[in-house]
Amino acid sequence: MSKQQPAPAPPPPAKTPTPAPAAPAPAGAEEKKPEKKEKPKAPKRRIQVWKLYKLEGDKVTRLRRECPRCGRGYFMAEHKNRLSCGNCGYTMYTKS
Ligand SMILES: [Zn+2]
Repeated sequence: MSKQQPAPAPPPPAKTPTPAPAAPAPAGAEEKKPEKKEKPKAPKRRIQVWKLYKLEGDKVTRLRRECPRCGRGYFMAEHKNRLSCGNCGYTMYTKS
C-alpha cells in the first residue's frame, strides 16, 4: 500500500431551487392591511427674515430692496440680473 489513488472529488451538490417556505396562514387570522410607509416630510422652507435686516447700532437697515408694489415688508429676491418680488411677481431688471 504505497500508492493510493486520490479519490475523485465528489460532484458538487446539484443546485435545486429551494422554494421559500410559505408562511402558513393561520385560520381566522385578522386581515391586516399593509402599512403605508409615510414619506418623511421635507421641512418647510421658511423665509429667514432676519437675513433681510441688519442692525447698526439702533438703526435697522434693510439689505434687500422693498417691492414698490407691495410696499414695506416685501423684499425683492436678488437674482443674477434682476430683482423679483415673490409676492406679486414684480420683476426689476438690474442689468440690460
Ligand atoms: Zn411685490
